[in-house]
Amino acid sequence: MKITDILKNKEAGLSFEVFPPKVATGFDNVVNAVKEIAAISPEYISVTYGAGGGTSDYTVDIARTIKDLGVTPLAHLTCICHSKKDVREKLSQLKTLGIENVLALRGDIPEGYNLGTDYSHADELVKDIKAFGGFCIGGACYPEGHPESKTLFSDIENLKRKVDAGCDFLTTQMFFDNDVYYSFLSKVQARGITVPIIPGIMPVTNAVQIKRITTLSGTYLPTRFRRIVDRFGDNPQAMKQAGIAYATEQIIDLYANGITAVHVYCMNKPDVAKSIKGNLSQILC
Ligand code: FAD
Repeated sequence: MKITDILKNKEAGLSFEVFPPKVATGFDNVVNAVKEIAAISPEYISVTYGAGGGTSDYTVDIARTIKDLGVTPLAHLTCICHSKKDVREKLSQLKTLGIENVLALRGDIPEGYNLGTDYSHADELVKDIKAFGGFCIGGACYPEGHPESKTLFSDIENLKRKVDAGCDFLTTQMFFDNDVYYSFLSKVQARGITVPIIPGIMPVTNAVQIKRITTLSGTYLPTRFRRIVDRFGDNPQAMKQAGIAYATEQIIDLYANGITAVHVYCMNKPDVAKSIKGNLSQILC
């Protein structure tokens, strides 16, 4: 099923993200996690893609597993360091397997890499996927601005170009303050971006994770959230419970404000996915 068709559903829904194994020996663990997540009937499951392409075959394999389990897969695809030929091959592979949804990404630029080969930005990939045909195409967006952009305004200008190239929907980078997302929505809508913008929510279940997130993306951490990490960061079980509760509250607020599709970065943790779904049992009917 295409994600655009799923998004026509007016009821509240949840989807989850998994990442592929780095090496073959980790494959079974990821498949087992995917099986457990699929069992709670998410709207779809997305599977990330290694920017350098090292785990790209696993992305396709995991997407196929998701499909075989009866859940709609969304396969991520990055273009940096890839040729147009590589991309066409990957798209042919996905099409042959009946995988209809692709999240078109540039990927982070590796150190020392010079832009200017086949792909420099995701809008070029979106154009190529559109020309290839048959896919529902998603793109990434950044409510606080992409780290390479000098201003949120210039990032939204580039986002408009990417959407005009053929994105059918967007998924956001994680955020911990829903007002950041609501404010972003009104800015992009004012710029004429009308495709659905699915909020991405990350349940933070350990303190190390939060240090990595803030170092890499500079995501704003509200005081209420920072107090939770300061208070419970040294107690893994307490941090996990508090992180799931915080993410649940964010999701309830999104639903209460009329958002119907929420994507959860559950980091291959079925227990986290199940807890969130359980916390919403009377809301997701
Ligand atoms: P782009 O849309 O190309 O944007 C990158 C930067 O370039 C922005 O600052 C933008 O403003 C600017 N820009 C865009 N177009 C132009 C243009 N035409 N001219 C000049 N400037 C331009 N990474 C992975 O490696 N694998 C994944 O599976 C993955 N999944 C992700 C899923 C989501 C929902 C998100 C939010 C991010 C994901 N990432 C993933 C990270 C992503 O690859 C990085 O954030 C990367 O640096 C940017 O990718 P993009 O597709 O947003 O790039």
